[in-house]
Amino acid sequence: MNTTEKRIAICPGSFDPITLGHLNIIRRSAKIFDEVIVCVMLNATKTSPMFTIEERVGMVRRAVVRYQNVRVETASVLLAEYARRYQGAVIVKGLRAASDFDYEFQMNLINKKINPELETMFLTASEKYTFLSSSVVREMATYGADLSGLVPEELISEIEEKAKQWRKR
Ligand code: ADP
Repeated sequence: MNTTEKRIAICPGSFDPITLGHLNIIRRSAKIFDEVIVCVMLNATKTSPMFTIEERVGMVRRAVVRYQNVRVETASVLLAEYARRYQGAVIVKGLRAASDFDYEFQMNLINKKINPELETMFLTASEKYTFLSSSVVREMATYGADLSGLVPEELISEIEEKAKQWRKR
């Protein structure tokens, strides 16, 4: 790699919705890399997301607005294909538990098959967020539980509002 080249991290996920656990990984990546691209994936396997892709992107944008070197994109292709757009970019993922490891290890092998140049780095989840996932947030929001400390403060009312509509379905 040329030393003048920017070091780019891609933080992928479905962010349905973004949590403080995701934000922790994004913030730490932004300290290590010159630029971080948060890639909101239109995940084909998660069939009924709570938030539309536009809502998810909007929430991620609001959550990262204070970070100068972070931007948000979407991808509807496989991550390994998407990453080809950014020469030398590294995928950065958060690791919470053994179950994450097994899944990520498998994903990494598949990504390498498709795009052998692509590297993935893992940051261990911060202790206070090891239990936190978007599905925990969706579950708690659906039951009207307090979301503070789980998602960015500025997103709580939007998530609560959506959960209310979700309950009425
Ligand atoms: P989730 O697993 O919450 O549904 P995503 O599929 O959007 O979230 O996950 C995107 C990435 O963020 C994955 O690499 C996942 O391991 C990581 N991640 C999710 N929650 C946390 C957390 N609480 N701490 C650290 N990393 C996390």
